[in-house]
Amino acid sequence: MGIKENYLKIKSELPEYVKIIVAAKLRTPEEVKEAIFAGAEFIGENYVQEAERVYNALGEVAKRVRWHFIGILQKNKINKILNIFDLIQTVDSYEVAESINKRAEKLNKSVPVFIEINIGSEITKAGVRPDYEAVKELAINISRLKYLKLEGLMTMGPLSVEPQSLRVYFRKTKEFFERLKSLNFPNINMQYLSMGMSDSYKIAIEEGANMIRLGTAIFGKRIGR
Ligand SMILES: *Cc1c(COP(=O)(O)O)cnc(C)c1O
Repeated sequence: MGIKENYLKIKSELPEYVKIIVAAKLRTPEEVKEAIFAGAEFIGENYVQEAERVYNALGEVAKRVRWHFIGILQKNKINKILNIFDLIQTVDSYEVAESINKRAEKLNKSVPVFIEINIGSEITKAGVRPDYEAVKELAINISRLKYLKLEGLMTMGPLSVEPQSLRVYFRKTKEFFERLKSLNFPNINMQYLSMGMSDSYKIAIEEGANMIRLGTAIFGKRIGR
């Protein structure tokens, strides 16, 4: 099946409220365009340079969709990120949040962000450690930054394990999400729980995800990262 058919089929099988982020790393502008023409509303990119290349190549088409940054944040890339992306899903420290805020202030732009949780406590992975108090502390600190709006949580879950074994991690992330939601802080408006990828999105939705990030399931196998 082609990109369009894959997108439409998955979309038709999901509950209406689930948002699909098309994870476009290592895909060509033509491939991304096909997903957009199939109706994709959100494109996720991990690498700033690659995103710029695709974004520029798409011209006006790029402006039909919202761009989510889902990669590792580097402070020296934040200006470029803010030029393209509408939302950043991978904030995992106050330091990084502050530097996004500082640059957003210069642009007089309000930036929606998610906190990334390293729910499996993997040393190699970005994200806040899976301790509710640590996540809450970061959320409260972010709520004091005028140009950021905290709108959700994102998690990857441990790689290369049986998708079913991710269930407990998704459940725990959902629990953090609900607890944060009930806090009632200014600038915190917990709406989105971004979890689940091509091999795990069904389980993630069962555990409360309302946003999933799909690459392979839409584009087919990826060569490389
Ligand atoms: C690549 C990637 C995805 C999508 O992965 P697939 O297994 O190809 O669906 C989702 N989220 C992030 C952060 C990614 O880097």
